[in-house]
Amino acid sequence: MPLPFEGSGKRFFPYFWYLRQTYGGRIAKVPLDGGFTCPNRDGSKGVGGCCYCSAAGSGDFIAAPHASLREQYDAYRAQRLGKWQPVGYIPYFQSFTGTYAPPERLRALYAQACALPDAVGLAIATRPDCVDESVCAVLAEFAARTDVTVELGVQTIWDDTAARCGMCHTLADLEDAMSRLRHLPVSVCIHLINGLPGETAEQMVQSARTVGGMGIHAVKLHALHVVRGTPLAGQPYRCLSREQYVSIVCDQLEVLPPHVVIQRLTGDGKGADLIAPAWSRGKRAVLAAIDRELARRGSVQGCRLARGTGRT
Ligand code: SF4
Repeated sequence: MPLPFEGSGKRFFPYFWYLRQTYGGRIAKVPLDGGFTCPNRDGSKGVGGCCYCSAAGSGDFIAAPHASLREQYDAYRAQRLGKWQPVGYIPYFQSFTGTYAPPERLRALYAQACALPDAVGLAIATRPDCVDESVCAVLAEFAARTDVTVELGVQTIWDDTAARCGMCHTLADLEDAMSRLRHLPVSVCIHLINGLPGETAEQMVQSARTVGGMGIHAVKLHALHVVRGTPLAGQPYRCLSREQYVSIVCDQLEVLPPHVVIQRLTGDGKGADLIAPAWSRGKRAVLAAIDRELARRGSVQGCRLARGTGRT
């Protein structure tokens, strides 16, 4: 059977290829701030947030974050996309926890987003412990009218790492969320962070292997960023080197099923506030190094799926 990314020029299933096959051209995701908070900030579960979370709650690239959704959408398209001419857009509730509000408020926000010009879908970032039955009912309503992707900020499957980083959610929360989400007509994209304090490369690869086996549709991988003003910025912490990061990502790609879309292989730290790792500013160089390493190994996404986590 042909791999779903044959013809893409990549050794993994790149997001651009998936979008082109699905929508017939280039699609841009537009990050939005829906005015949400997070149970790890409002006191329900915690107040300080995850140790790496910036004041914007991961929404550092949103243009005009306090404006209306339409103004944010238009500002992003004007400021960030420039001459780029996508055939459509995916409004993306990126900041904080995009399902953490009463159902009627979720309905109102999601409806506004779906009505934005040339929107072809809806993406919502949330936590594994914020996808209860009432949220799933709202997601199902919107999945009947557009393509809905739920992005779960899992980061690691290891509860001791999650506790060390103050995440206040667990693997059991993820399993619980997936038991509901996999019955909905929505796509699930899981975010993983490589280089969380105290975690080994083998644990990071095992996180990828485990989430890849949960019936998900996509992943985002990135290195832990130390950002000014976060709890992590005041702690002794040693970042992964670029070489270590590239090697871990290639190991993860080898154990992810070939149908899982790779939405991201490296992140963008917000320019002025990024303390480390400095190499993450060179996104193109990181991506090129991943391509080179996969070619050097002669490996493709999923090639070690049936084996252990170690390379042979
Ligand atoms: S769950 Fe997300 S928004 Fe909430 S504190 Fe952690 S990183 Fe920040």
